[in-house]
Amino acid sequence: QAKLSGKSRFHLFDTEQDRSLRSQHETIERMHQALKNNELCLYYQPKVNMRTSEVIGAEALLRWQHPERGLLAPGAFIGLVENTPLMLDIGRWVMDSALAKMNEWLEQGVRVPLSINISAIELRDPNFPEHLAAALKSWPDLDPAMLELEVLETAALGDLGQIARVLDSCRQLGVSIAIDDFGTGYSSLTYFKRLPAKVVKIDQSFVMGILRDPADLAILDGIVRLADALDRQLIAEGVETFEHAEMLLRIGCDLAQGYGVARPMPADDFLPWRAQWRAPANWRNLRTVSRR
Ligand code: C2E
Ligand code: MG
Ligand code: MG
Ligand code: MG
Repeated sequence: QAKLSGKSRFHLFDTEQDRSLRSQHETIERMHQALKNNELCLYYQPKVNMRTSEVIGAEALLRWQHPERGLLAPGAFIGLVENTPLMLDIGRWVMDSALAKMNEWLEQGVRVPLSINISAIELRDPNFPEHLAAALKSWPDLDPAMLELEVLETAALGDLGQIARVLDSCRQLGVSIAIDDFGTGYSSLTYFKRLPAKVVKIDQSFVMGILRDPADLAILDGIVRLADALDRQLIAEGVETFEHAEMLLRIGCDLAQGYGVARPMPADDFLPWRAQWRAPANWRNLRTVSRR
């Protein structure tokens, strides 16, 4: 990463690279403020069992309520801070906020397991497990198993052994680990085997593909069997339509997250949504094709 201070700021010629660096610099500055000014918030997207109608938990997704630009999804800002130390502060804020919300809901008598997304830089931070332990300690009523860490397959690129060790320490604290966007990286099968993840989240690109691409369907079917054999829990992301749900249920993937169930929503909407949700009758009636 190029240096942003000093004379590079005073170039006469405003090259495109200069502009993009300056805009990254500005975004980082602006996000520091956002964190201080409480402009960040978490939205929650339900995860459900399509067969039983059970709401099994939710994923906490970062949003930035920008005073001028409105509500921003991570795509609009996270790429610019992902590899900077600011991401560590944001990650901690996310962790603390999610734990606080779980505790608040638990006090209202509702147990909602939550997952949070962990960026590569957090995983490379040797202090990460310690911070996690401290954060969990401050909520004695919460069972650590209610927290799940979603880790991108690509976050482990290059240093699988090191990342696996960090995740192992986290797992020893009782939290659950999920591989996020599974199938988009390069060494999926190795990750499947070596990362201490109980949960595997199938990337939405596969789910989109299963209706029109027999190869995607075959791959997904294989992943379902693999997950069975290796005792991993599978959840499909990007379930947008009834047809997606139907196909997933047919091949034996009952757990889902996606717009077809619900879009990510503000915290205050979650418990009311959860109380009324029922899988459509035709989802409930689908039975897994018996394979054995
Ligand atoms: P992700 O972890 O794979 O999260 C799923 C993303 O897919 C979310 O986008 C969600 O809104 C979107 N999505 C859910 N269902 C559907 C669907 O049916 N169709 C389509 N097309 N999209 C769907 P979002 O909230 O914009 O987040 C994007 C990514 O940003 C996340 O992908 C995650 O990698 C990252 N992210 C979000 N929050 C955090 C965070 O707190 N920390 C870190 N490090 N990364 C985060
Ligand atoms: Mg995720
Ligand atoms: Mg994902
Ligand atoms: Mg993603």
